[in-house]
Amino acid sequence: MKFSKLFIPTTKEMPSDATLPSHQYLVRGGFVAQTGAGIYDFMPLGKIVLDKIKAIVKKEMDEAGALEVQFGFVTPLSLWEESGRDLTMGSEMLRFKDRKGGNFVLSPTNEEAVVNMVKNRVTSYKDLPLHLYQINTKFRDEARPRFGLMRGREFLMKDGYSFHSNEEDLVREFNLMEATYKKIYTKLGLSFRVVEADSGAIGGSGSKEFHVLASSGEDTIVVCYSCEYAANIEAAKRKKVNYDFSRGEEKKVETPNCKTIDEVADFLQVPTSQTLKAVIKKAIFKDGSKIVVFFVRGSDELEETKALNSIDALELIEANEDEIKEVGLVAGYCGIKNLVKDILVVIDSELEASNSLVCGANEENYHLINVDLTKIANLTFKDLIAVKEGDICYCCGGTLSYTKGIEAGHIFQLGDKYSKAMNATFLDENGKAKPFIMGCYGVGVSRLVAAIIEQNHDDKGCIWTKETAPFMVDIIVSNSKNEEEAKIGEDIYKELKNLNIETILDDRINARFGFKMGDFELLGFPYAIIIGKKLAEGFVEIVDRKTLEKVEVKVEDIVEKIFNLIKG
Ligand code: ATP
Ligand code: MG
Repeated sequence: MKFSKLFIPTTKEMPSDATLPSHQYLVRGGFVAQTGAGIYDFMPLGKIVLDKIKAIVKKEMDEAGALEVQFGFVTPLSLWEESGRDLTMGSEMLRFKDRKGGNFVLSPTNEEAVVNMVKNRVTSYKDLPLHLYQINTKFRDEARPRFGLMRGREFLMKDGYSFHSNEEDLVREFNLMEATYKKIYTKLGLSFRVVEADSGAIGGSGSKEFHVLASSGEDTIVVCYSCEYAANIEAAKRKKVNYDFSRGEEKKVETPNCKTIDEVADFLQVPTSQTLKAVIKKAIFKDGSKIVVFFVRGSDELEETKALNSIDALELIEANEDEIKEVGLVAGYCGIKNLVKDILVVIDSELEASNSLVCGANEENYHLINVDLTKIANLTFKDLIAVKEGDICYCCGGTLSYTKGIEAGHIFQLGDKYSKAMNATFLDENGKAKPFIMGCYGVGVSRLVAAIIEQNHDDKGCIWTKETAPFMVDIIVSNSKNEEEAKIGEDIYKELKNLNIETILDDRINARFGFKMGDFELLGFPYAIIIGKKLAEGFVEIVDRKTLEKVEVKVEDIVEKIFNLIKG
């Protein structure tokens, strides 16, 4: 391709809200253009990258035996009513009416659509397993679309759905998909990690995420450097520490102005691990709301996703002072005893069988000491804590650390959640009708465009991996008005094209060398060949975009040299 014929509107101007390098460089490099909040157009260079990623994903999915289909971007709301998700998807699912008043949604995901496709068409265990996938647009009306392609409202996802006659076969496919995804991210040239994950709104049991490691990642990943353990903080576990506090009789003690854990621990001269921290929230359910108190050890923090899952709520929001008072709680002195009104109480599992604890007395300026949880009836214990750096790995006893990742894929074992709700069954070996056992598997295709740059950039611009670069080589003709330079540029361009090396020739007549070089650095093609002053002595230069190192090469050797660099 010739630069002069392409549409690559590079610019120095930066979107005012662009804080991430990928957002800045993809817009400045003319890869994408924003048209609305979280909505982006792909310009020619961006489309080439997107298609390369799609092709890698498609090849691996096809090789794993999945079949490509395409679901409508618009689905009737009735499908979502069948599964019950019309009530749980919340405002992320964009709904609208057609001219006849019919209700529709822009697909945020396609479990319902795939069940609808398979239902009554696959009727026997003999036709299973079946794995259908598509690479298609999704729309999620995200509360805070941001970071460019990273968290858009409209985005491209590969979503696959598998159907099985039993759990073992689902596990086989789940493992196959884990291996397939590893191949995909490796082929894309990315450094990534597979982590244990929370299943979120999609539902089901076992799930794993694939994270592209980058300091700007939105997700905190807990990793053990002594073993293979890695988990999203939303699902991370740790080895329980056993505390042995000296016992005594439960008593109410005055603790004036001790509202925080540190103040109470300091005043009573106990470690914060001996105190109970109450986190009061308002939980939103399908059919109303309730005040809920989560208790964790004073030295721990509440993990909000775990908290949300523990009560199966749609959302947790802050409770205001009046709402807290109304249910008889005293903020800052909230304790586990004498809770009277209709509220929910969940305690972190690590506190099960704990005694000698300090907690609020539900009375201004008073705390209870020596509280024994084994003596309180009907308590609910769930995993609620956010694993901290330095905690102990439950697999190997090593020390846990944090790292940051960008979620680029997620695989789930769904089970029969959707098939059961939508009454989609097959006949087993004994002629008995059973709901399909399902799995679902997503790759964030457009998010990957940004993730690649988050992991591979410098202060000048993008550095595409060889597998995703829109062009491998940028031939920069220093001065396109110089006939000799222009001719050598054309010759090398033709030879590289004949060797099937994706090459762009920067033949822009009116652009200076510095400008062309600036574009090369911003656009991030792996190599440039500079045809400039040295040509008189029979030399051109190769620039490696990653290191920006230059080497001089004889004109007659350049094609072979570049070929070896790329294919070698
Ligand atoms: P997140 O936790 O980042 O909101 P999710 O868990 O809601 O993502 P999934 O439902 O697992 O996302 O979707 C599969 C994949 O689609 C994700 O792993 C991610 O790469 C991509 N994805 C999800 N939401 C967006 C978005 N708003 N913009 C771009 N890609 C997205
Ligand atoms: Mg996910």
